Amino acid sequence: MAGLSRRRLIGAGLAATGTALVAGGSAGPRPTTLPATVVTPVAGPPAGPTPSASPPPALPTLDRPVFTLEEYRRLVPGPPFPANAVALTIDDGPHPMWTPKVLRLLDRYHVPALFCLIGNQVLGHETVAKDIVAAGHHVANHTWSHPAKIAGYVPDRVQQEVDRAQDKIYDTTGKLPTIFRSPGGAVSPAVFAAAAKSRMVPINWTNDPRDWTRPGTRSITDRMLAANPGQILLCHDGGGDRAQTCAALATVIPALQARGYQFVAL
Ligand SMILES: [Zn+2]
Repeated sequence: MAGLSRRRLIGAGLAATGTALVAGGSAGPRPTTLPATVVTPVAGPPAGPTPSASPPPALPTLDRPVFTLEEYRRLVPGPPFPANAVALTIDDGPHPMWTPKVLRLLDRYHVPALFCLIGNQVLGHETVAKDIVAAGHHVANHTWSHPAKIAGYVPDRVQQEVDRAQDKIYDTTGKLPTIFRSPGGAVSPAVFAAAAKSRMVPINWTNDPRDWTRPGTRSITDRMLAANPGQILLCHDGGGDRAQTCAALATVIPALQARGYQFVAL
């Protein structure tokens, strides 16, 4: 692994998740439709009589979020993940202090990650958001304002949270998220419907070290080291002082790599 460049590793991650998941280009308005390879679900609606004349179908509305890499791959076609794959997801940024620290750490260990961005955090920190994408990482939609009670919102309000973040992330980075992470993992029929309407797969996680509660570097480290292949790991670069998270990742990433785990970016 040491002989591989970061670009190759991240390229492998892109290949693993399907290059079509990353919207190309940074110019122009946000596309209203995605390439067919992006939006064709495994279990799509029955083929209609005039497929060429109709827009790509929306993703199916789910009744539970994705928790593991296997569940993700069942919904989003692509090559199987490596047997020892784990996915690192980093929420609540971008943050002008902590995101660059996390990016340096990921670069040092050639680890690709998924950054779940809050729209109103991208606002004012556009350069940080661009740096995430420029480093080859993926970005997801983590709502506009991170409402803790989103599961109780009426559908229109949920959709506004999703759409406003989607527009800001796309306008800033040129990437159109295909993954939605709800604040706190909270879900409701309206949340699932909004994600599906915006052609995003709702993703939760398998391994939560609760780093946002600042339980101590040791606690975060121990919980993350308990990760198993196929899991989606959660940590944070926003929402407060993330020194413990950064310190834990500096231990966890090389330790999991030494165990033979391969980080992939959703
Ligand atoms: Zn969050």
